Amino acid sequence: MMKKLSVIVPCYNEEAVLPAFYDEITKVAAGCENYEFEFIFVNDGSRDATQNIVEAFAKKDERVKYISFSRNFGKEAGMLAGLEHCTGDFACFIDADLQHSPELIPEMLKAVDEDGYDVAACRRVDRKGELRFKSVLSSIFYKIVNRISETYIDDGAQDYRVMTRQVIDSILSMKENIRFTKGIFSWVGFNVKWFPHENRERAAGDTKWSVTKLFKYAMDGIIGYTASPLRIPLYLGILLLFLSVVYTVCVIVQYAVIGAVFLLTMKVTLFAILFVGGLILISLGIAGEYLARIYTEVKDRPKYLIAKTNCDK
Ligand code: UDP
Ligand code: MG
Repeated sequence: MMKKLSVIVPCYNEEAVLPAFYDEITKVAAGCENYEFEFIFVNDGSRDATQNIVEAFAKKDERVKYISFSRNFGKEAGMLAGLEHCTGDFACFIDADLQHSPELIPEMLKAVDEDGYDVAACRRVDRKGELRFKSVLSSIFYKIVNRISETYIDDGAQDYRVMTRQVIDSILSMKENIRFTKGIFSWVGFNVKWFPHENRERAAGDTKWSVTKLFKYAMDGIIGYTASPLRIPLYLGILLLFLSVVYTVCVIVQYAVIGAVFLLTMKVTLFAILFVGGLILISLGIAGEYLARIYTEVKDRPKYLIAKTNCDK
């Protein structure tokens, strides 16, 4: 029996690029004669013709499956839905915008099927074609995450990857609601073969990432993988306690030796009040971020809602 690869494609308003994507991916599939293919298009609440286009593919090609969400749930949810519904021995995540070169799939398949790797993943070699501001922000983010969190997250690691059934099931065993896929990939571990991958220009359409979306994503990445920010208030508290003891000792010594106190002026008092007030608010904010996420996890709402699908799993 032939082994099967499930290609999972999250799509959000991708009408401009889907026909070209389908052409390329089916060409690649035709080149892998020894494998059966399944294409799962996850329509993440698109407001353009994405759904019609995908249904048209499904009509002429029975390998095409679609899962259409009731609204936009985000790429992470789309990837999860694809994994939950895929039936392949291997699964591959790939973006619809052709920034991930489909011609790498045969090599990645070989790595997991013949060379004994569990995951074949792409790593970005450069950030060409990306806004300078965005790359600076993102490298700062990875520096912070990797300094404070127990899970190492590779700066260049992309979602574009092929994995075995064992890895699929491991990812699915992680039940958290707030899903930071890059962290999940590296948390599950396994033997990964990295493929250098040139950043390609988007074939058509626009990027779906706004700065606020990226910021939220970064916060999820930090908070989801480490509890250490919760300790910041503790360390700050200890530092301030220490400073206040030093200060009190200075005052007492001054008073005993020269009978007067020179250390405290109005300016210092005002500064101290603002400083401590700021620290308290920051501490509250950090705790609040965790609390908000606990709240979301406890509610345990579905991670996505399907409006329409032709998957039978
Ligand atoms: N995407 C999605 N839901 C979203 C945002 C994006 O399914 O809410 C899909 C999008 O259609 C594309 C992939 O995720 O296939 C990557 O998105 P994009 O190209 O906008 O991100 P970038 O490449 O700019 O990081
Ligand atoms: Mg893209």
